[in-house]
Amino acid sequence: MRLSRYFMPILKENPKEAEIVSHRLMLRAGMIRQQSQGIYSWLPLGKRVLDKVNAIIRDEQNRAGAIELSMPTLQSAELWQESGRYDAYGKEMLRIKDRQDRPMLYGPTNEEMVTDIFRSSVKSYKDLPLNLYHIQLKFRDEIRPRFGTMRSREFMMKDAYSFDLTREAAEHSYNKMFAAYLRTFDRLGLRAIPMRADTGPIGGKLSHEFIILADTGESEVFCHKDFVDFDIPGEHTDFDSVEGLQAIFDKWTSLYAATSEMHDEAAFNAVPEGDRLSARGIEVGHIFYFGTKYSEPMGAKVQGPDGKEHFVHMGSYGIGPTRLVPAIIEASHDDKGIIWPASVAPFDIVVINMKAGDQACDDTCELIYAALTKAGKDVLYDDTDDRAGTKFATADLIGVPVQIIAGPRAVANGEVEVKDRKTGARETMTIEAAINRFVA
Ligand code: ATP
Ligand code: MG
Repeated sequence: MRLSRYFMPILKENPKEAEIVSHRLMLRAGMIRQQSQGIYSWLPLGKRVLDKVNAIIRDEQNRAGAIELSMPTLQSAELWQESGRYDAYGKEMLRIKDRQDRPMLYGPTNEEMVTDIFRSSVKSYKDLPLNLYHIQLKFRDEIRPRFGTMRSREFMMKDAYSFDLTREAAEHSYNKMFAAYLRTFDRLGLRAIPMRADTGPIGGKLSHEFIILADTGESEVFCHKDFVDFDIPGEHTDFDSVEGLQAIFDKWTSLYAATSEMHDEAAFNAVPEGDRLSARGIEVGHIFYFGTKYSEPMGAKVQGPDGKEHFVHMGSYGIGPTRLVPAIIEASHDDKGIIWPASVAPFDIVVINMKAGDQACDDTCELIYAALTKAGKDVLYDDTDDRAGTKFATADLIGVPVQIIAGPRAVANGEVEVKDRKTGARETMTIEAAINRFVA
């Protein structure tokens, strides 16, 4: 992508409305724009990051055996009347009427709709287990939308829903998502700790919130400090192994970890003082097992091996991609801007032409840009006629992991500079060596 032809509206000044660093940096880097309270456009640079986050979420959901579909944002109130949640949900639900005066709503979550899909076609235990997910916009009329897309009214959610014949089988489905979440957050460059959690309006019996420790987090959390160094399940984890996944779950729940709603002071005080971590955290995922809470009122049942009908045991599993993007920034930035983990960076490399219009600089940059693009890298080429200082500041602000800098003096020697955004380390090397480093 040539910056001269791209749309990346950088702000020079710090926006006054932003209270936390991630919100400030997302606005300054031209990633998002608020359209009305708590409702955002994702501008091209932000959209690139969001897409990469979603690709990792999708990859790990698929690995764990979940199947992607797409459900609509607008739902009929009827389904919610069946489950009893239409009246229970309260003011967070945006209620709408269509031209025939039929009550509709903008979905805050999809338990009812997916249960309806399930009951319309699954009739036998032989079709279980089943886990269906989508990545879709939600709307919750939050009382206090704030911190940019961290807590917005319209936001994106990956929500998965599992269906099983028995409680034991449902627990295995829960453990699959538990392990998938550990892997997902790790690939996003985050350390998320599963904590015992309250089930809220989703309801249910077993629930964990995945929390990232951050001073700007809205939740107060308490946990054993060893979680910070626990091993993440590897990519060859066997998601069909009941014992294997139970062992992962047992290990990751063996020490104290709870959000303030579930906090037990006495149990926490039993943790040796030096091992206690009491901190603020950002909830990036939440998983629930809720048994037959929706399948019973909505009549979602299958025939079991005993020939009888059984209400299915369900769970639901949410991750917030539009909250994850700012959460990653909270965890990874410095005073110059964002420092993206390579896995979600909007571009892999930025090529900075320090003197656009200078033939040698232009030729060198074009050569590098073409070679790296051909090798499948996402390259941003700063070919604008801004001053070099402005270009460096922009590159640091948008946090692309690698900068290749071509200035007249180095280029005259057949060389460029390669800078690592995270460490700030700079290395001068031949043009060929710079290309080869990233093509290999
Ligand atoms: P919170 O406690 O932060 O209000 P919640 O418990 O209501 O969230 P869930 O229903 O568990 O949220 O939703 C699953 C995930 O969706 C959350 O873990 C979070 O990542 C994301 N999410 C929920 N509400 C918002 C929001 N208003 N803005 C952005 N992301 C959200
Ligand atoms: Mg929650």
